[in-house]
Amino acid sequence: MFYIGCHLSSSNGFLAMGETALSIGATTFQFFTRNPRGSKAKTIDPADAAAFRALWAEKGYGVVVAHAPYTINPCSKDERTREFALQTLADDLQRMEYIPGNLYNFHPGSHTGQGVETGIAQIAETLNAILTPEQHTTVLLETMAGKGSEIGGRFEELREILNRVTLTDKMGVCLDTCHVSDGGYDIAGDLDGVLTTFDKVIGLHRLKALHVNDSLNPVGAHKDRHARIGEGYLGKEAFGRIINHPALQGLPFVLETPNELPGYAAEIALLKEMKR
Ligand code: FE
Ligand code: FE
Ligand code: ZN
Repeated sequence: MFYIGCHLSSSNGFLAMGETALSIGATTFQFFTRNPRGSKAKTIDPADAAAFRALWAEKGYGVVVAHAPYTINPCSKDERTREFALQTLADDLQRMEYIPGNLYNFHPGSHTGQGVETGIAQIAETLNAILTPEQHTTVLLETMAGKGSEIGGRFEELREILNRVTLTDKMGVCLDTCHVSDGGYDIAGDLDGVLTTFDKVIGLHRLKALHVNDSLNPVGAHKDRHARIGEGYLGKEAFGRIINHPALQGLPFVLETPNELPGYAAEIALLKEMKR
């Protein structure tokens, strides 16, 4: 099965997202667990979660991806910001148990001047405080563009975080094509080389999802500005190679391109057309 989808609004609940996904030809999707800029999370309706699970089981589709809000930063120099990140992540993981067996992706954080080493240590400390042996969710570190003091622009940084997490089988990585290109990995020009490096440094078994975004900027720009498929420096052909790469089969591919639903539907159709 080819799991392709896009980021969807979660404001009308799980079943509505599932139905929207079906209406645009998606076989997976991503959603924010709460307002991406705010903190308040809506209470989850167990009946809505159950109805979504039934729909997804009936279709035989696989995992969906939850995305943590952008505002959390587990490695801020401000202790209250770190504490807020910990509480938000812990609360989100509890809420994810309404849809067990899925993925929860977050941006590792920005060290805000503390240095990479301290940042990595604080991120791992947070993960060790919130992961539980009982949880049914895999937590993903997203590969970042390396903008400002962002951690996760180098595969080695993600490896270091994973090395320090105790419940390591609860952890994985989400590869964002725009971010890795911006981070200096030429995923458009040398996909095999980038995946070989990923495998050596992190391990391909850790790769659980991809964000498929073109980039408005060239390799190594550290900007993080997404473009529609084929409208950036990566180019349409690069996405054909990515979705068809043998090492990436069965993984969910999620679009986070600047689009409304009709645009997403068109990109999903385009990628399905390119899928061999
Ligand atoms: Fe992200
Ligand atoms: Fe992303
Ligand atoms: Zn991004």
